[in-house]
Amino acid sequence: MDQPAVRLAGRRSAMEAARTALSGLAEVLHEASGAELARLMSLVDEVGAQAGAARVAVTAEALARGEVAESGATAHTWVREHAPSLRQGGAGHVAALAGMLTEGGPPWQDERRAPDPETPVGVVAAGVLDGTVSPSLATTAVRELERLDAHLSTEAKPTVARALLDLGVQWGPSMMRRLRPRLLAEYGLPGELDRLQERLAPAARLSAPAVESGDLTEYQLLMTPEQAAALEAAIGPLSAPAPNDETGERDLRPAGQRRVEALSEVCRRSSALDADASGGDGAAAASSAVHVTIALADLEARSGCGEVMGSCATGAVLSPEALRRMCCEADLVPHVLGTAGEDLDLGRVVRLFTRAQRRRLWRRDGGCTYPGCTAPAAWTRAHHVVHWVDGGRSDTGNAALLCQRHHSYVHRRRLVAEVRHRPDEQGRSVVWDLRPGSYDRHLERLRAERARPGPRGADSARLVGAPL
Ligand SMILES: [Zn+2]
Ligand SMILES: [Zn+2]
Repeated sequence: MDQPAVRLAGRRSAMEAARTALSGLAEVLHEASGAELARLMSLVDEVGAQAGAARVAVTAEALARGEVAESGATAHTWVREHAPSLRQGGAGHVAALAGMLTEGGPPWQDERRAPDPETPVGVVAAGVLDGTVSPSLATTAVRELERLDAHLSTEAKPTVARALLDLGVQWGPSMMRRLRPRLLAEYGLPGELDRLQERLAPAARLSAPAVESGDLTEYQLLMTPEQAAALEAAIGPLSAPAPNDETGERDLRPAGQRRVEALSEVCRRSSALDADASGGDGAAAASSAVHVTIALADLEARSGCGEVMGSCATGAVLSPEALRRMCCEADLVPHVLGTAGEDLDLGRVVRLFTRAQRRRLWRRDGGCTYPGCTAPAAWTRAHHVVHWVDGGRSDTGNAALLCQRHHSYVHRRRLVAEVRHRPDEQGRSVVWDLRPGSYDRHLERLRAERARPGPRGADSARLVGAPL
């Protein structure tokens, strides 16, 4: 701001010359070398930045002198009228800044040419007037400083203003907002960050589920930093892409899908823990279980749908395939209905593996049994190789550990596995048939065998024996 005293008339003709120099510049750019282009770009940028600063200065002067008021305009309309290029946007920022600079009398007069540089407004004003801070960034910074004002000690305010502006100039306004907690921690009054975060708690919320046209369920979730940290820590490792080195399959799920699948996995694990804590094998005792009604005929024929009951998600509809998959899990309580809508007791086939059985499976399978998957046992569930719905028994001979992803995959592609009494030469007790539909072909064979009389038929009848 230490300009040599060039009089207004001299500046004015220099600006007119600059305007002439800039208009039509494109036509002569071919004369410039590559290095010159870069230098030109910087020069044009500086002229533009100074011009932006000058707009604020001129507006502030007009405001301070009462020119704006006399013309019957507001600062905003005055700027729009005399700086027509700002009608495309930006007039508001210029007007707001000019207003801020002239607040409390005309600081523009005489010896005080600008607000006190030791105030936050002075820091911002200095940045704007020397062309380093754009008017829009400056207004964002001022808003941010106003928000912080009550929480900062007076001495810290100019420092915080400088830190905010530096950051905004380098990284843009969103970074400025993100810095707020850190600035409070560093420059705030003692305990201010704690108080701020405490005040956040009542504003945090998880909305009730909203189902749009029977598709996806939508939630709105606002969390305190602490809650968000816990959530991110819980889903972080689970939401990483999981390519399969053995089969070469890439993980093509978008990040959003990976994150929500990780979140539902975390919920599922916590329900499973709940079920374990409530006495081991009885999922029905777990208060966090999902209760679903479905007609037996639908479940067997893979038609119709199941309906969630007894929770906020009541009325949500689950596909029969999703239900079959969930039947492997402890956090589902299926209410299977007969033809007359009566609640059938399917207790003749125990649906869930006991805790002792799961322990044996942990030892036997070690983790997810899908080829190439490295998910540890703690991340898996025990899948019924012959589905419970199809009469598959809850014996370890009919069980395979699968991680969430491969559990969905195996159900979706309808795959079957062979469970061996002894591990093969590669140490596998479970060998998957990866051809799509292998489960259906296996089931057909079992049913045909069951229909045939004889000891072998009787044996497999136990396996496929339909619950009714
Ligand atoms: Zn399953
Ligand atoms: Zn897996």
